[in-house]
Amino acid sequence: MILSDLSLTELKAWVREQGLPEFRGKQIYDAIIQGKTLEEITTISNSIKKQIEEFYPKYRIFRKYISADGTIKYVYKFDDGNIVEGVLMKYKYGNTLCISTQVGCRMGCKFCASTLHGLIRNLSAGEILGQAFLVNRDIGGDSKERKITNIVLMGSGEPLDNYLNVTKFIKLINSEDSLNISERNISLSTCGLVDKIYALADDGFKITLTISLHASNDEVRRVSMPIAQRYTINEIIDACKYYFNKTGRRIIFEYTLIKDVNDKLLHAEELANLLKGFSCHVNIIPLNKVKERKFVDATRKECYLFAQELEKFSISATVRRTMGDDIGGACGQLRNQILMEE
Ligand code: SAH
Repeated sequence: MILSDLSLTELKAWVREQGLPEFRGKQIYDAIIQGKTLEEITTISNSIKKQIEEFYPKYRIFRKYISADGTIKYVYKFDDGNIVEGVLMKYKYGNTLCISTQVGCRMGCKFCASTLHGLIRNLSAGEILGQAFLVNRDIGGDSKERKITNIVLMGSGEPLDNYLNVTKFIKLINSEDSLNISERNISLSTCGLVDKIYALADDGFKITLTISLHASNDEVRRVSMPIAQRYTINEIIDACKYYFNKTGRRIIFEYTLIKDVNDKLLHAEELANLLKGFSCHVNIIPLNKVKERKFVDATRKECYLFAQELEKFSISATVRRTMGDDIGGACGQLRNQILMEE
């Protein structure tokens, strides 16, 4: 347990259990939100610091790369030496932070760099939250002025494979005591763990759900995504419809265009048939080349043609803008680069 895993109420209770007055809980909580290290806290004495040291978060920004377009890529380091990465994207309407949920990943998607060394471990709710606190501070925010407006759970890891920590994270960051980021400003991207999509809906979450589909039929999906052995596309779409009916939130499908795998216009037509009549949007993503992987990227022009074909069948589709290309590419690439250097 680290103290950022706790809500304000839980932290106050914990502080009382340590024999400290309750107001210390609020002081510690504020310091955590502000991304402060224990040494930087001025409101509590050294003896209290000693007492809570074991549990106070020690994550930090380990590396930072700023792109020509303003995108910032962060590498965070945790207590145990593990590192994960994140990206801050600046838009007109606000700042979106892409957050990691696991060190590594066990889903094994063949185009993805995060999964090259398998799953190392889950991040705790407080470690997922810590990424937002550190960046909020780094870009000039504090506990009152929140500079991060949107969160996307699209960094390394499969968020629904770490369900309890991720859902606790959503509740924590959503809280008025914390960064107060509303569920409609949080997106969760998943390769499609069907049972957990039903669980999210049944547990009352109303976040935006993004499905990494990347194929228009199961056979093609199995070429690049091992999870396709476990769940069919139809099962995923049924779960998405259930989620939509419960939440009213439009589902976003991600489709990474891979040359000679899923990039033909017939695939677009097949995808359009699958999604016909369902309130959703398709995001076409140009494949980010990962040098350890054999897949080849389709051109941007091919991405536009694919999106156009979907539109022809009345499916809303856009090609994702690429940001921060000059600073480390696709998710998980930066971590691998650093692991190789060390
Ligand atoms: N595990 C989750 C979230 C992490 S990946 C998921 O599968 O959705 C975030 C998105 O980036 C996913 O859509 C993933 O398929 C995509 N992605 C991973 N590697 C990529 C690459 N090399 N090029 C383009 N997109 C990639």
